[in-house]
Amino acid sequence: MSIISNNTTFQKTANDALIKNVNNPSINKAMENLENANNITIAETTPTQPVTTLAEDYGDSGGFAQPVSKSGPDMRHGIALYLEDVSVWFDSFRALNDLSLYIEAGELRCIIGPNGAGKTTLMDVITGKTRPTKGSAFFGQVHNLAKLSTEEIAEAGIGRKFQKPTVFEKFTVLDNLMLAAPKDKRVSKSWFTKIDAEIKDTLDSTLAQIRLKDMINKPAGLLSHGQKQWLEIGMLLMQRPKLILLDEPVAGMTDAETEHTAELCLRLKKNHTLIVVEHDMTFIDAISEKVTVLANGAILAEGTLADVQNNEAVIETYLGR
Ligand code: ADP
Ligand code: MG
Repeated sequence: MSIISNNTTFQKTANDALIKNVNNPSINKAMENLENANNITIAETTPTQPVTTLAEDYGDSGGFAQPVSKSGPDMRHGIALYLEDVSVWFDSFRALNDLSLYIEAGELRCIIGPNGAGKTTLMDVITGKTRPTKGSAFFGQVHNLAKLSTEEIAEAGIGRKFQKPTVFEKFTVLDNLMLAAPKDKRVSKSWFTKIDAEIKDTLDSTLAQIRLKDMINKPAGLLSHGQKQWLEIGMLLMQRPKLILLDEPVAGMTDAETEHTAELCLRLKKNHTLIVVEHDMTFIDAISEKVTVLANGAILAEGTLADVQNNEAVIETYLGR
């Protein structure tokens, strides 16, 4: 099964630019394989704008050179996410209870709390999967999350990784990443040069972030659990989100994988706002700035990890159990 339409036209000059600038035989080979496997026609046209310079290696040079789409959030006042008095009721059960949460642009916020506290429900509200029964939820100044569809919210720049990895096991790492690129950008023929260069730029920076460049030709099914999680984060990055939500990203990981994931989060923080839900305190300690403790659908405490670990109510409700 091919992941790219047989009619897709890739721009030759942009491909050449990738080849010249990346100077990485395995990437070149993978791109060739992708072209052959999918019977892609390569057009000999001249770029209408300079092709983005790609990093010569995949060191720490990642990061998105271009701003996210024009429809991205207006964060002029520094608030990326604004939830006020949000409640979610399932029949008479209150999964979220008058919860107010403000996340600043560029922040990495950790959310901890016992099972059933409402952490996943909170992510469901932010991504439009669950509608608040009452209260307001805004992304930046203009995006009313209570009114937008899940697709519109993703398009506005919110990306979410669920607890279980859902990579396509039979496809290679590269195919998975290309498949995750926004559909219009994969197949559109208008704006062609710009789009092609942009996807490759995003692929380059994504591989720099998730550190899977040596694995791009491997079927995703052969990756370790940790590598699959990183690939899935990479698939999120292909959509160039502004705000990234990670739900229990280190569950089931080895200590070494957990440590790598902490490093990945710190790299992502340079260019993204992040909300990370986790139980693993070693991991939280490695990445956290401000920590929010959720219990019974409401905020129990907020502060540094040390602050909340010393909070009596938190010890009683969560940590001391
Ligand atoms: P957490 O992620 O903190 O463990 P959740 O947000 O998944 O907690 O769940 C919070 C509470 O809401 C739980 O008691 C759960 O059973 C309940 N809940 C979540 N989703 C639904 C639903 N769709 N219908 C009914 N109850 C739900
Ligand atoms: Mg959960």
